[in-house]
Amino acid sequence: MARYKDARCKLCRREGVKLFLKGERCYTRGKCPIDKAVSPRNYPPGQHGLGRGRRRMKASDFSIRLREKQKLRRIYGILETQFRNYFKKAARQKGVTGENLIRMLEMRLDNTVYRMGLAMSRSGARQLVSHGHVLVNGKRANIPSHQVKIDDVITLAEKAKGFDAVKYSLEWNASRLMPEWISFDAKQTEGKIVAEPSRDQVTLPVEEQLVVEYYSRV
Ligand code: SF4
Repeated sequence: MARYKDARCKLCRREGVKLFLKGERCYTRGKCPIDKAVSPRNYPPGQHGLGRGRRRMKASDFSIRLREKQKLRRIYGILETQFRNYFKKAARQKGVTGENLIRMLEMRLDNTVYRMGLAMSRSGARQLVSHGHVLVNGKRANIPSHQVKIDDVITLAEKAKGFDAVKYSLEWNASRLMPEWISFDAKQTEGKIVAEPSRDQVTLPVEEQLVVEYYSRV
């Protein structure tokens, strides 16, 4: 499966907000280029970032919707074709398309592993999954986009429970509130999906209705 391999901080700078793509670095003031105390690079990347980029003209309706779509896609680390397929599925489902879309993205296996605090970033969680360290209902699941369901039990293979990165992430995230749709037993390193996430349980700096409008127009 293809994935984005270029510098991730550039993506945040392009969107003008922190997308938390790199784990600990994102939470450490002085390391994140966006909110560095000295010379923050909170302007778009590239040779025009400092020039025209800083004195932007009024954004068009199209570019506002495009940026919102890109933001959501980049937060979950998904390439365009797959993201568009998520949108098509969301539009076919009953209910509000934007909320369906976010629910599907949240219920990806890699995101669930990240939400459980087993990895510092979604890309770290994705690596755990694709290297075969994650079990769903006792069976190895190595597809990051796998959709988890209510009552699924997610845990790590024995070897992975001893990884320094996993231990560190669990420690780091110990004080973080677990999403209400996951029940997590830190001693067993085991999580259970107890509900589907509702929109108000997912904190994202994105207006999903603009994403829906973007795809309705292109
Ligand atoms: Fe984004 Fe994290 Fe890089 Fe900051 S450190 S720009 S939040 S990826």
